[in-house]
Amino acid sequence: MAIPTTEFNQGLCAFIDNSPTPYHAVASMKQALQKEGFIQLHEGESWGQLTPGRYYVTRNDSSIVAFYLAEGDLASQGLNMVGAHTDSPCLKVKPQPERVQKTLLQLGVEVYGGALLNPWFDRDLSMAGRVSYQTESQQIKHVLVDFEQAVAVIPSLAIHLDRDVNQSRSVNPQQHLPPILTQLDEGETLDFRALLEQQCRTQHPELNIGKVLDYEICFYDTQKAAVTGLSGDFISAARLDNLLSCYVGLQSLLKADGKRSALLVCNDHEEVGSQSSSGAQGNFLQSVLQRLSYNSENYQRMMDHSMMISADNAHAVHPNYADRHDAEHGPLLNKGPVIKTNANQRYATSSETSAVFRQLCEINDVPVQDFVVRTDMACGSTIGPITASNIGVRTLDIGVPTFAMHSIRELAGSRDAAMLHTVLTAFFNQNSH
Ligand SMILES: [Zn+2]
Repeated sequence: MAIPTTEFNQGLCAFIDNSPTPYHAVASMKQALQKEGFIQLHEGESWGQLTPGRYYVTRNDSSIVAFYLAEGDLASQGLNMVGAHTDSPCLKVKPQPERVQKTLLQLGVEVYGGALLNPWFDRDLSMAGRVSYQTESQQIKHVLVDFEQAVAVIPSLAIHLDRDVNQSRSVNPQQHLPPILTQLDEGETLDFRALLEQQCRTQHPELNIGKVLDYEICFYDTQKAAVTGLSGDFISAARLDNLLSCYVGLQSLLKADGKRSALLVCNDHEEVGSQSSSGAQGNFLQSVLQRLSYNSENYQRMMDHSMMISADNAHAVHPNYADRHDAEHGPLLNKGPVIKTNANQRYATSSETSAVFRQLCEINDVPVQDFVVRTDMACGSTIGPITASNIGVRTLDIGVPTFAMHSIRELAGSRDAAMLHTVLTAFFNQNSH
């Protein structure tokens, strides 16, 4: 294979480390796109008739659509599209979060998405997100912030105080999760908004930062992404679901030859059902596509010639829990991307779209695997079916096999991301369907 896997994984790990929140992920992607000459469009401005070239547009600073417009008629040629999501389960700071208990300052948190909660204990946590502040002239502006250092922790309860812990400890998210930030003297208080204001000033001395009005701040693990295992077979990192797919999609778009119109969409809010203006149930992608097609007949013609690959991680078969998989559909790490199929349309894959992907893998010498959930278990879902029904495009759900999905630290094979990159690049370069 042509891709130097080590180099690819270094880029992937750096992208994950630089993207503790969806806002940071979109900022990281914008930077990479601008470096390659992509032009930013704004939803609130007129686009006129776009000439062939490279463009991107964001919504809510947390979702992004980037595309190549090739020469020729879009309605008769269609677009090859890849989708992924920018968000991951995490703990999100409440609007009035401060509480002091037993001299310790803690912050109240909500659980964002279907997080595995136990792994959040005893980690060195930091905070990052978007802050909305007021300028001297009463304007409201927004800026990204990242404390970077370990500033908080959620300590476990000692086993001596809960002897049955290994059989039965459950986590009450309201009671057990508020992270501890600092110890206060008697009568001392700490205002979280004032803390954010100070951090924003330190991080952005060039800006005229005033009073912080609101924020979306998440806790995250400060441990960096790493290639692990005795022979470097694994990648251990936070947010592999689904920053891995965002990164692979982005690198594939950047590497595509640009002779075919191609598009990457990375939506926020997948982990909470996608129902938001920037989520896959919102009209962000649809609105971009409508603006590219100019009228409804062109739109439908374009969709009929297009295809979407929805990339989101798949469950690898875990050696200690192998019975959780159907024996014939247990994807292995480092054995290639996984086609995800579900008869009840929890995945958007059809035989038409999976055939295209299987053929692409074969042509590019990349192995491919299949996942179907056990018939006696419920199936997860992703942006594939939502996007397919929202914009009316034939769609395929795929992803790289991973362990520990929705943990604070997930595990993937170190060779799978580069393999998926090969296939998605070929897909972007492929002729119409
Ligand atoms: Zn996901």
